[in-house]
Amino acid sequence: MTHDPPQAADRGPPALRLVAVRKVHRSGDSTVTALDDLDFVVRRGEWTAIMGPSGSGKSSLLNVLGCLDTPDSGLYELDGIDVGTLDDDARADVRNQKLGFVFQGFNLLPGASALDNVVLPMLYDRAGRFPDAEARAREALRRVGLGHRLDHAPNALSGGQQQRVAIARALVTEPLLLLADEPTGNLDSQATDDILALFAELHAQGVTIVMVTHEPDVAARCSRTVVLRDGRIVSDTAARPAVTEPG
Ligand code: ADP
Ligand code: MG
Repeated sequence: MTHDPPQAADRGPPALRLVAVRKVHRSGDSTVTALDDLDFVVRRGEWTAIMGPSGSGKSSLLNVLGCLDTPDSGLYELDGIDVGTLDDDARADVRNQKLGFVFQGFNLLPGASALDNVVLPMLYDRAGRFPDAEARAREALRRVGLGHRLDHAPNALSGGQQQRVAIARALVTEPLLLLADEPTGNLDSQATDDILALFAELHAQGVTIVMVTHEPDVAARCSRTVVLRDGRIVSDTAARPAVTEPG
């Protein structure tokens, strides 16, 4: 287990806070409670693994955290902002400005170069924060060790390199929180080690990471492991109780 970088912890509101979040999936006559009044706080700078058996609610949790799905009840605060009060446009802006996503299958645009893949999220920034998108994309690719592969298409890159491009794309907007869904699930053990070393580096730089994984070896690299079962947290290695902010 790694330690959280001291400079990042406890500065500002927690990265995220869920209070009694409930998510019920309905299909036909049946309902499934995927998140059962879940309480969950992530402090800035933490690198949290979410584990649990299939069907325990990991994807449902990640979808709520990613503002891709709305809870049926409960509070979700991201960086102190009550996400539930936002309209669709404001929620999309929050997603664009505060969150970065990394997926098991990389989800890169196959016809675009590594550089263009990383430029893309900045083109969607309606606040116009990135007039220097291409320079930033180059720098992000350098940061993940791919400064020499800018013009390569995804299919000319190894799986580990493709995931590096995806991580650069997620980081280029400097999100508050990086959400990763089985980011090493499609990688061999060497590439898994490489990607985990990269996440460890980002963690040391203060990036907050929430990562779903099935693999205990992967979770062991994180600074905290939370285990879900039936939409509830059944174990949590957080050394300290959840931080509550004054006010
Ligand atoms: P995990 O990612 O841990 O496998 P999920 O969050 O995908 O868990 O699923 C939690 C529960 O909710 C499961 O019982 C699953 O079948 C159900 N579920 C998830 N998504 C849907 C959906 N869109 N419609 C109906 N049931 C769903
Ligand atoms: Mg899942």
